[in-house]
Amino acid sequence: MNCPLCERVTKTQNHNYPYLIHEFKHSYLMLGEHQFYQGYSVLVAKEHYKEMSDMPLPLQTEVFQEMMKSSKAIESAFSPKKMNMCSLGNVVAHVHWHFFPRYDSDPQFYDPPWLRMKDFDAAKVSPEEARLNITKIQSSLLALG
Ligand SMILES: [Zn+2]
Repeated sequence: MNCPLCERVTKTQNHNYPYLIHEFKHSYLMLGEHQFYQGYSVLVAKEHYKEMSDMPLPLQTEVFQEMMKSSKAIESAFSPKKMNMCSLGNVVAHVHWHFFPRYDSDPQFYDPPWLRMKDFDAAKVSPEEARLNITKIQSSLLALG
């Protein structure tokens, strides 16, 4: 199988992925490779499922709790006006969730974050910014317990 997210999971398991924030039981929380929205992160399921509804119910429930904890941690680290979460998977059909913190300063606050996709490349995260934002979210996770 040629799945970029399965490859990323393997890289992470081999300690070879630089943007890991946290390892949950069933998923990895990773900082997004751009920070157009400060704190943008992605939660990737460890196992390959096309749809979350394909997972056995206990797994769905636990992954959902990992999502909620991720969302809470990002929210408490960056104090956005609103959290946007989305799971599409049309491009990479491996269950993952995008967390887009949205701010008052956002000129298109009422639009879906993907409308600014063309600006994402210009906001590629630097190693320093990545370290800082990863540490912030890790601290929030610790505080959440
Ligand atoms: Zn996969």
